Amino acid sequence: MSQLQRIAITSSQLQLEQILLTPQQQHYLGRVLRLREGDRFIAMDGKGKWWLAQLEGEKAQVLEPLIVQTELPVSITLMVALPKGNGFDDIVRCCTELGVAVIAPVVSDRTLLNPSPKKLERWLRIAQEAAEQSERSFVPTILEPVSFRSSLATETTAHRYICEARGSYPHLREAINQVSTTSEIIIATGPEGGWTEKEVECAINAGFQPVSLGRRILRAVTAPIVALSIVAAELELVASHSVS
Ligand code: SAH
Repeated sequence: MSQLQRIAITSSQLQLEQILLTPQQQHYLGRVLRLREGDRFIAMDGKGKWWLAQLEGEKAQVLEPLIVQTELPVSITLMVALPKGNGFDDIVRCCTELGVAVIAPVVSDRTLLNPSPKKLERWLRIAQEAAEQSERSFVPTILEPVSFRSSLATETTAHRYICEARGSYPHLREAINQVSTTSEIIIATGPEGGWTEKEVECAINAGFQPVSLGRRILRAVTAPIVALSIVAAELELVASHSVS
């Protein structure tokens, strides 16, 4: 099954066991992937559903639903202060591969970049491509950029962590280890200049626990990728132990 090409569709494209392909998808399947009439591929709706489909002109016939188990057992939201340049592209790509559920770009006190609306479209495309290549059943949600402080106000029952490069805070791995049952984790990472003291204070007041990612200072692009790797490793280990 992993040999088959995968494309992302929206649920509204699926009607009566048929997928109505957009001109872009027809081009991608026919010209880019060089699929012919009758060839099979996988369609995924980005919400956990996959189907085995067969190309039939401008449509595809759904042959059967597929069951995939490539998602992390817990939903992880990354709140990432926007880095300079195109650094966010790498964060979206790598974190999608690692299993993130939601990426929330935030503008912090020291954020140097004001995001253009076009960027969101670009990030969504990158997430979709990365989800397809890493065989995920979900395409992560990418939220519109908002200010860090306003995003703190969101009510949630999730376990929340803020990564702070300096100070003697517990390691993220240790903090995660103590989380026995949860369905959602939120992790915030700062910009090149780091979080301001006031931001860390506001986050703590909003229920975030400050954590360390180790003794070295990581770049703003590296930190969310490392944070997610640590959490994913810990959660998957726990999940595989509880299954066996
Ligand atoms: N210029 C800042 C560091 C910013 S690093 C300074 O010199 O202090 C960018 C962001 O990555 C930080 O805000 C933090 O969220 C995260 N980060 C980098 N290294 C980290 C570490 N060792 N532990 C925890 N968070 C880290």
